[in-house]
Amino acid sequence: MFSIARKSALRQARTQLRLSQATPISQHSALARLLSTLAVLEQKDGKLNTSSLAAVTAGTKLGGSVTAFVAGSGVKSVADQTAKAQGIEKIIYVENGAYDRGLPENFAPLLVENIKKGGFTHVFAGHSAFGKNLMPRVAALLDTQQISDITAIESEDTFVRPIYAGNAILTVQSSDAIKILTVRGTAFPPPELEGGSAAVEEGVDPKAECQTEWVSEDLAKSDRPDLGSAERVVSGGRGLKSKEEFDRIMPPLADALGAAIGASRAAVDSGFADNSLQVGQTGKNVAPQLYLCAGISGAIQHLAGMKDSKVIAAINKDPEAPIFQVADVGLVGDLFDKVPELTEKLKVL
Ligand SMILES: Cc1cc2nc3c(=O)[nH]c(=O)nc-3n(C[C@H](O)[C@H](O)[C@H](O)COP(=O)(O)OP(=O)(O)OC[C@H]3O[C@@H](n4cnc5c(N)ncnc54)[C@H](O)[C@@H]3O)c2cc1C
Repeated sequence: MFSIARKSALRQARTQLRLSQATPISQHSALARLLSTLAVLEQKDGKLNTSSLAAVTAGTKLGGSVTAFVAGSGVKSVADQTAKAQGIEKIIYVENGAYDRGLPENFAPLLVENIKKGGFTHVFAGHSAFGKNLMPRVAALLDTQQISDITAIESEDTFVRPIYAGNAILTVQSSDAIKILTVRGTAFPPPELEGGSAAVEEGVDPKAECQTEWVSEDLAKSDRPDLGSAERVVSGGRGLKSKEEFDRIMPPLADALGAAIGASRAAVDSGFADNSLQVGQTGKNVAPQLYLCAGISGAIQHLAGMKDSKVIAAINKDPEAPIFQVADVGLVGDLFDKVPELTEKLKVL
């Protein structure tokens, strides 16, 4: 193995991004008293999706009061459980099974009613499928411009977001009275789910008509950690050559590390791995403690989804592969030899 000594611009950028996240922005400002955030939470089958708590972290980073919002059936218990999360002043819940699937057609009017009632200055939701579906409609109903996928907050009206697959960083200033934002989960780690004591309150339910009917979903099931929030991720690319080889090489490595499995788009498009495992610009954003990839070249669209990982390790037979420019640790070699060897060594640890 060799260490990549020369830090690339991308690596410097991700270090700077982490540093810029360190200080709450309006802690020192009298404005903080006027700010009030509504953080939209996600739940499924009466269980909180903890990664949606990134919206709470964004609210606490902004300063001012933070109210969380959750809707669906059985959400009173979700609200009670979430009341222990740090940084939340109040949780508004709406018990109604019509909101279980997060359909924007009825969820957006529900949220708008509660935003208007609470007089919030900022509304944050995760940049997840749910948030991406819901928030543009909320913004349209409130006649404001949505700001998507923010990675930092500079002030109460100025936000930072990556564009061009993370190759440029845009600073956006908004003059809208209510700011509607989605947040990149990897940039706003969820708060501790203990120590808090938020008030729990029932919200208003406009019971808006919904023309859309949720029919069914077909989800890939796995006992492995969730890709979006796993501490460790092992990812395979086109270098794996086939689905058979992907399934032979990657799962044992993932098991040895207790890791989630990810894949490049080329691997997904070639049918080696399920679509839900794609990491990158058009896949999932991950920022685990360890991102270990094999047979992935490091195209910018892939880097866009994993370059905030704390430690990046790469195995590739091409020493010039761009992945080595962002890797903390690299191994030049044939993955069909190196990955099984590494897996065996990890098993005896
Ligand atoms: C709009 C748009 C969005 C996109 N979104 C995404 C996205 O979300 N995620 C994503 O991943 N891509 C995305 N892409 C595609 C991206 O540009 C690349 O094509 C893709 O990431 C390449 O995947 P790869 O690295 O697996 O394959 P390749 O680029 O083909 O690289 C394969 C690598 O494997 C190495 N290799 C081969 N055999 C071995 C071996 N035996 N041992 C070790 N190494 C070996 C090679 O040296 C090579 O570096 C997007 C592209 C576009 C245009």
